[in-house]
Amino acid sequence: MITEFHIGIDDTDSRLAGCTTYTAALLFQELLTQGFKPLDFPWLVRLNPNIPWKTRGNGALSLHFTVEEEQLEEVKKIAVATVERTTDLAQRATDPAVVFLKGGISNPLREFSARALHDVLSVREARQIATCARAEMRLLKGSRGLVGALASVGADLDYDHTFEIIAYRTPENIGTTRRVSHDSVRHMDTLFHELTFNNIDPETGRVLICPHGPDPVLLGIRGEDPTSVTRALNQLEINEPIERVMIFKTNQGTNAHLSCHRRIEALRPYQSTVITGRVSGPPRIARGGHVIFRTGDETGAVDCAAYRATGSVRETALQLAPRDSVTVSGGICLQPLGELTLNVEKLELTRLVVTVRMENPSCSNCGIRCESMGNGQGFRCRKCKARLPRTSRVEKIEQRKIALGVYIPPPRAHRHLTKPASRDGIRRPISVEIDNANIDRTLESLASISTAS
Ligand SMILES: [Zn+2]
Repeated sequence: MITEFHIGIDDTDSRLAGCTTYTAALLFQELLTQGFKPLDFPWLVRLNPNIPWKTRGNGALSLHFTVEEEQLEEVKKIAVATVERTTDLAQRATDPAVVFLKGGISNPLREFSARALHDVLSVREARQIATCARAEMRLLKGSRGLVGALASVGADLDYDHTFEIIAYRTPENIGTTRRVSHDSVRHMDTLFHELTFNNIDPETGRVLICPHGPDPVLLGIRGEDPTSVTRALNQLEINEPIERVMIFKTNQGTNAHLSCHRRIEALRPYQSTVITGRVSGPPRIARGGHVIFRTGDETGAVDCAAYRATGSVRETALQLAPRDSVTVSGGICLQPLGELTLNVEKLELTRLVVTVRMENPSCSNCGIRCESMGNGQGFRCRKCKARLPRTSRVEKIEQRKIALGVYIPPPRAHRHLTKPASRDGIRRPISVEIDNANIDRTLESLASISTAS
């Protein structure tokens, strides 16, 4: 009997070292070597980015294979051994969890995974879902990694997805400056900007494909399909050995976390959310240069914060006027006094009000603007001393400095899940079949990229 077999892994990384994608890459390749057949590339599933207690990008990994029933125990053994080997259990913040699931994905698990993108889920709830889905849990330390491990197994990448090719460093280079030619990244970007994204920040020219810090990732290129990211990687000039290369199917760059519309009264800390309403006061600039604008719907109002790093989002927010209609997406933050704010990740203007300013009248003799003679008084021309009544004030329609449309931060301020403007209008060919031959061919080409043996 052959069956689908899914493995979910979360939280093998700590702030200092390690990386769950590396664990997944090792395990995937180990299982291939042992002759097991993958159903897909490994999945890198980003979950709700607004949960403050997660390390870095809140990513979990899952692998999907077809396995003979009698080999299931063997696969589990390999999986647990790989996770143990690549995890530093001494790190306090590391709570690795592995989930095994045989057969198809049930609806409760799918719903759990969907909620993990924008809500705060408890370990208790994860245990219930796991039990009901008959998933097997292996916790190496604490149980916190369970939510991610389970959510990644049940993720829905059919609607929209992207790929990331990740090149890993050899152990002796980890912690040193990454030796990747920035000029070659810029050149690659000019060749592949339609099929890859977030290689370079266009305003600053900053290279975005290399992370900073002591993790084993040398670089990651994100794009629309396995072939394009592989070809893009081959364009780069890299002056250090590559330990291995893996391609992940992922929900990065899809805005998957900004899919849940909520009424303002239903907002809770750390959710990712979308609200629709009207601006209920003039925007103000807070300490640090952030722009705060209050938005209300029929159930309440919430302060929305556009941070300095959000570029055009902040500039646009500063020009909002009371009663403008907006759709605001982002994460809910808890302020020290218990108040909620929405950190804006995307701002859509759907209707701009006409704003009117009252102006002093002009003198009919001299054409110059009259001055007010005081509160409740009329106006007087400074030159010819002609007087005009108070009722002669004129309404002036103000030219709004912003236009209807969608505003998102520049790529350097993107989160993993942020959908870049360059992906707008991309319609996924739903029917692209990823079969074994396809995966095998791609993986063979990856093996030739690794220069370290
Ligand atoms: Zn005059």
